[in-house]
Amino acid sequence: FKHYIIMKVLVTGAAGFIGSHLSEKLVSEGIEVIGIDSFLDYYPRQFKEKNLTNLKKSKNFKLIESSITEADLPAILSDINVVFHLAAQAGVRSSWGKQFSIYAKNNIEATQVLLENLKNCNIERFVYASSSSVYGDTSKLPMDEEDTPHPISPYGVSKLAGEHLSLLYYKNYSVPSVALRFFTVYGPRQRPDMAFHKFLKNIFEDKPIEVYGNGEQTRDFTYIADIVDATYSAAFANGAEGQVFNLGGGSRMKLKEILNIMQKLCGKEIKINYSETQKGDVKHTFANTAKARKILHFHPSTSVEEGIASEMEWIKEFYGF
Ligand code: NAD
Repeated sequence: FKHYIIMKVLVTGAAGFIGSHLSEKLVSEGIEVIGIDSFLDYYPRQFKEKNLTNLKKSKNFKLIESSITEADLPAILSDINVVFHLAAQAGVRSSWGKQFSIYAKNNIEATQVLLENLKNCNIERFVYASSSSVYGDTSKLPMDEEDTPHPISPYGVSKLAGEHLSLLYYKNYSVPSVALRFFTVYGPRQRPDMAFHKFLKNIFEDKPIEVYGNGEQTRDFTYIADIVDATYSAAFANGAEGQVFNLGGGSRMKLKEILNIMQKLCGKEIKINYSETQKGDVKHTFANTAKARKILHFHPSTSVEEGIASEMEWIKEFYGF
C-alpha cells in the first residue's frame, strides 16, 4: 500500500446508498470528508436524509448540496487528496427513452467535468464507481476485466463512458484514476428500486413479489461493507492507477435461492408473480476477482445469509415493521 496520509477527501453521491456508508468509514478513520450530492429525485429524499443521520453528527463531515456540474469545483478541490466518484443516476430499467438525458448528464457529463477540473490538481487518487453492467449479456463467465465490454442497457453504456473517461484522463493528463466495477451491492440503506429492498418490503407487507423472468437468473451479490473496504483500499493500493477491478462478493446465486433464504429468515410464506424479463437486464453476472484480491487485498467476508439478515433488520426499522 502507498504511504501517504489522507487529509481531506471528496465523496460524490455522499447521500446515496454506497456513498453514505463509504463516508462513514472515512470519517471513522479520522479523515475529513466533503460530500456532494444533488439529491436526484430518482428515489425519495427521505431515504437520503436518513442515510446522512450519523454523518451529520460528525465534525469531520460537510455536505454540499449541489450537482457536480453546478458546483464551484476549483474551490472544492483545492485541498482534496482523494476523490471517490460515486454520484450517478443509477438503475438499468429506467435508462431507456427520454430518461436517457438524465443518465448522460449525471453519469457522463458530470464525470467529464470532474476530471477536467482534476487535470491540474495534485490529487493522489480518483476512484470511479463503475458497474458490472458494462459487461452486458455474456455467456463467458466469470467476467474478466480483460473481456471486451458489451453493455446491453443505456445505463451500462453511460457507466462505461464514465470509466473510459476516467482512464483516458489518466493516460493523457496523469489523473490517477482507478475504476471499480461493483457487482449488485446490497445491505442496509440499499436503494428502494433494488430487488432485495423491494422483496423484503413486500414480504413484510404480505404483498406478492414480482420476479422478472423465471428466477433462474444469477447475480454475484456483494455486501456493502465489503464494497466499502475495497473502495477505501483503492485509494491507497500500489499499482492500482489506470486499472479496472471487478468487485463481486463471490456469492453468486439464483434469484430463486435468494427468495428461499428470505423466506426462512422472515419466517413468512412468499407469494411470487413471475413477469416478463426486462429489457437491459442480463441473465447472469459473475466476477473474476483475482486482480482485486491481489492488488486491492479484497477479501469479501459476508455471506448472503448474514448480509440479507442485516438488510432485513434495517428494512424493519426503516418502515417500522
Ligand atoms: P444512489 O442513487 O443511492 O447514490 C448516488 C447518489 O448520487 C444519489 O444520492 C444522487 O442524488 C447523487 N447524484 C447523482 N448525480 C449527481 C450529480 N450530478 N451531482 C451530485 N450528486 C449526484 O446509488 P448507489 O446504489 O449508492 O450507487 C453509487 C454508485 O455505485 C453509482 O455510481 C452506481 O452507478 C454505482 N453502482 C452501484 C451498484 C449497486 O448495486 N448499488 C452496482 C454497480 C454500480
